[in-house]
Amino acid sequence: MNSIKFTYEHFLQKACRQLGYDEVIFELLLTPSREIKLEIPLRKDDGSIVVFNGYRVQHHNARGPYKGGLRFHPAVDEQEVRGLACLMSLKTALVDLPLGGAKGGIDCDPRSLSHRELERVTRKFVEKIHRNIGTNIDVPAPDIGTNAQVMAWIQDQYSIIYGYTPSVVTGKPIVTGGSEGREEATGLGLSMVIRHHAKTHKLPLQDSQVVIQGFGNVGRHAAIELAALGCKIVAISDTQGAVYNPAGIDVQRAVAHKESIGSVVGMENVDVIDNSEIFSLPCDYLIPAALGGAINESNANRLSCKFVVEGANSPTTRVANDVLCERGIKVIPDILANSGGVIVSYFEWVQNIQHVHWKKEKVQEQLWEVVSEACELVWALSSEKQLSYREAAYQISTNRLKDAVFAAGI
Ligand code: NAD
Repeated sequence: MNSIKFTYEHFLQKACRQLGYDEVIFELLLTPSREIKLEIPLRKDDGSIVVFNGYRVQHHNARGPYKGGLRFHPAVDEQEVRGLACLMSLKTALVDLPLGGAKGGIDCDPRSLSHRELERVTRKFVEKIHRNIGTNIDVPAPDIGTNAQVMAWIQDQYSIIYGYTPSVVTGKPIVTGGSEGREEATGLGLSMVIRHHAKTHKLPLQDSQVVIQGFGNVGRHAAIELAALGCKIVAISDTQGAVYNPAGIDVQRAVAHKESIGSVVGMENVDVIDNSEIFSLPCDYLIPAALGGAINESNANRLSCKFVVEGANSPTTRVANDVLCERGIKVIPDILANSGGVIVSYFEWVQNIQHVHWKKEKVQEQLWEVVSEACELVWALSSEKQLSYREAAYQISTNRLKDAVFAAGI
């Protein structure tokens, strides 16, 4: 997971240098405000005890309360969470939300835990961290290995202590105060970024070929939304393997197959290919939507796409990013491409605070407005200063973050 650390640090440092900031400002923006490490013991259903490590890194809150996902995955560690927290501050700044950045996680494998064990782990986490989260303090959301159910347990455990507080988390079920459209927000937002880019640069979307690594929340909804725009989804993958059909995969069938047996492998009318082969398939848009570091030194030279659109957080390593630049493959960076999730999380938080419930149409209209505004700024700065999209996005967000940190006072 070191790839994440070096990647975000490098891009942030580059942005600071390009903006002419002193090295100490880079240090100030890089260093998290607070890092919390917790012991999470669990008594399993069979009576045995296991101990997990829990983390919450609160990066910066000069622009608003800390905000960021909670990841349950065995590879979670301090460095990964620290990097992802910084990315969240940059993401909320880029799309101009009044929020800061944070990230958390527990190094457990949710697939190896029963439903009740997962609930106990989640509630234990809240028991230990409740003083450091809250509506105006730090608002967690789902990420890899967590979902609306996990958010509902957090909300409930927190509400036992502080009274009914739906605004303590986002991405929760609609019946406990969740927002319409949050489930599909990241994938929909990603499709909006591609749509905005294609419209601005007069690129046809109809029948353009899309390859997606990862078929979880982000990958699945990106596939559904892009197929609805006329794109052809030619390959998808999950941990079990990858499937390919150059004539286009039936996305609804893939979703149903994944729901029934837990993988896209085994569905009809596709060839099964190795997971690593997915990166070299010819396509217009390659969307990494699984873990960090997926596009790296081992495969960057083999990519055969026109654009990489980063659905996952930090899926491209620093070295791979340079290789792609040299090869003329444009990268739409994570802090723009997957910002739809935090944008609708912000809408959910606003609805909770105001005790109102928006219709899905309103959520999606507002999402398009926020995404479009950020896209316009990134495309324009990139073209004006001859920057990559990542450099442009980082300059905009780093500048906003620095202004807020200095306005608040050192
Ligand atoms: P998820 O757990 O719902 O899905 C992850 C998917 O990736 C699963 O289908 C899994 O099988 C697959 N996967 C894991 N390792 C793989 C591998 N080596 N090869 C192929 N497939 C693999 O997680 P998610 O919420 O979809 O998040 C995916 C990424 O998007 C993460 O980097 C996350 O931080 C980022 N992200 C998520 C959101 C959100 O709202 N969920 C928002 C912004 C960014």
